[in-house]
Amino acid sequence: MPVSEFRLIDKYFTQKIKKSAVNRKGIGDDCALMLIPAEYELAVTVDTMVEGVHFFAGTDPKLLGHKLLAVNLSDLAAMGAKPTSVTLALTLPEVNENWLKGFSEGFLSLANQFSVDLIGGDTSSGKLTLTVQAMGMVPKGRAMLRSGAKIGDYIFMTGWLGDAGLGLKIEKGFNCSSPNSALKQFHRPFPRVNEGLAIMAHSNACIDISDGLASDLEHILKQSHVGARIDWDKLPLSKMVRSYIEKTGDWQMPLTAGDDYELCFTVAPDKIHLIKIDCTQIGVVEEETGFRVQRLGKTKELGVKGFEHFS
Ligand code: ADP
Ligand code: MG
Repeated sequence: MPVSEFRLIDKYFTQKIKKSAVNRKGIGDDCALMLIPAEYELAVTVDTMVEGVHFFAGTDPKLLGHKLLAVNLSDLAAMGAKPTSVTLALTLPEVNENWLKGFSEGFLSLANQFSVDLIGGDTSSGKLTLTVQAMGMVPKGRAMLRSGAKIGDYIFMTGWLGDAGLGLKIEKGFNCSSPNSALKQFHRPFPRVNEGLAIMAHSNACIDISDGLASDLEHILKQSHVGARIDWDKLPLSKMVRSYIEKTGDWQMPLTAGDDYELCFTVAPDKIHLIKIDCTQIGVVEEETGFRVQRLGKTKELGVKGFEHFS
């Protein structure tokens, strides 16, 4: 990386205060160094956002910085890991200081909220592509896995379903009388890190809703060799999502649209009283495989998939 670019990284991305004791060495050498306490496992995840695929050209860089980190922290949240460190790979078509300033503000302000250190990265030129690797600590053997759901578990989710999906439709031209909260959920999802930490000891399986509830819950069901029934009337749908469905008849949108970044998790009936976070019970885990939705007195097998690349 040329000196001028290194100066920019130093200017916009070097945090002066180290927040987590596991980070021994951050930006500035060939590698960062982390020291993992003996009783913990390191949880690692990486996500990429490509212009034109994951976000529109011209999107506010501050929103991009926030969302790129949020989607990665959301993966750590789904395992019950406490985030400590991230690395950032930037591929930029040009060096644009305004863009870097906005992006780093969005990125670092969320990092600061969760006491996460940016410990390294890479910078190169090309089509705008943003990658974050996020790392976190989870007590050995205690991470929430997709494979842990048991027959009879209750299925819960945090937050609202379908707001981000509605936000995307608004971006694409759908006319909505009060679009702000849907747009906010689409552009500025808030990772449920604290919720993940709070349920870890009591939940059997957990996933974050990135590709749509139907498709993400299906990962839990397949890996746990079980099925599920979702009760449509219990879904946490905002006023705006309800009015979208009334207008369009598209009742499956909240189940199939992605980008909500809420947690979906299962809990054994005798542990429900231990769940102290804000969440909604939306269904139950059943022996019969597959994913069913109960709506208007009928049960429907849902074959519709969430967002899949290359499909
Ligand atoms: P190397 O040639 O050894 O890969 P680089 O010149 O790419 O090193 O990077 C120099 C330092 O700057 C490294 O510590 C690297 O982690 C850090 N760095 C480079 N790009 C970024 C970035 N986008 N965000 C954070 N740190 C970065
Ligand atoms: Mg490099």
